[in-house]
Amino acid sequence: MVVPTQDLPPRVRIYEVGARDGLQNENSAVPTEVKAEFIHRLAQAGLTTIEATSFVHPEWVPQLADAEQLFPLLADVEAKLPVLVPNARGLDRALALGARSVAVFVSATESFAKANLNRTMGEALAVTEPVVARAREQKVHVRGYLSMCFGDPWEGPVPIAQVVRTAKSLLDMGCEELSLGDTIGVATPGHVLALLAELNEEGVPTDRIGVHFHDTYGQALSNTLAALQHGVSTVDASAGGLGGCPYAKSATGNLATEDLVWMLDGLGIETGVDLGRLTATSAWMAEQLGRPSPSRTVRALTGTSHQEQ
Ligand code: MG
Repeated sequence: MVVPTQDLPPRVRIYEVGARDGLQNENSAVPTEVKAEFIHRLAQAGLTTIEATSFVHPEWVPQLADAEQLFPLLADVEAKLPVLVPNARGLDRALALGARSVAVFVSATESFAKANLNRTMGEALAVTEPVVARAREQKVHVRGYLSMCFGDPWEGPVPIAQVVRTAKSLLDMGCEELSLGDTIGVATPGHVLALLAELNEEGVPTDRIGVHFHDTYGQALSNTLAALQHGVSTVDASAGGLGGCPYAKSATGNLATEDLVWMLDGLGIETGVDLGRLTATSAWMAEQLGRPSPSRTVRALTGTSHQEQ
């Protein structure tokens, strides 16, 4: 039943990360043709922004080493297809294939910057700045991912002022939108609201902020609702909860797109996404991966057998 509530955005843009953030965290290597079909099906389900792949060094992320082969197979997809670029070389590869939208990433903590990229936060920003500048010169849209915005496995809770400072650095260097990542899923709604309020206080408008929650502690939808109540209208999610396999040791717990759409549909918030088609796509992808989807909505809907599989 659709029961709207007050003070929520009428429309939410879902930034679909399953093909990139999801698949890079899955153990199985997925054939390029399957990835291409997955992205086509996501677009047919109504998703308008689908992060397609990553141009990080193939040795770092072997699951996405086929970016050069995959991207040309997506030429007829009508959705925006941003790609992740870690450095100047990655941007070169993306531009050579005609990418029109890229995403860069930095950490809000020193420990994760060191662990993920073997750089200090300062070095990471210094490497990222010319990448953003060059992309903008080419009129390419740039999103800035900020990871560990709430908690860090080595450092514990992350000071809000530190997150705001790093977020502002990304905007100052030319990123057009931010994605605030709760990489280990420890955020709770009050923390989310406090960070958003401080970002606004420091001059960052809400319409440039997206949120990227992980469901590790079961908080992803609560945190999303808090962000929506604050006025955020861009939400990252991963079809079928890809990248959050509960049977894998390295479960990262991406918010499942179906779980998000179930809530937004119930609130009468427009997304343009057909939940039935999306669920069928994730059920199909789960078959390709040889294990059930961790999305509760996918399981509930496919378990009733009313959905096409
Ligand atoms: Mg994620």
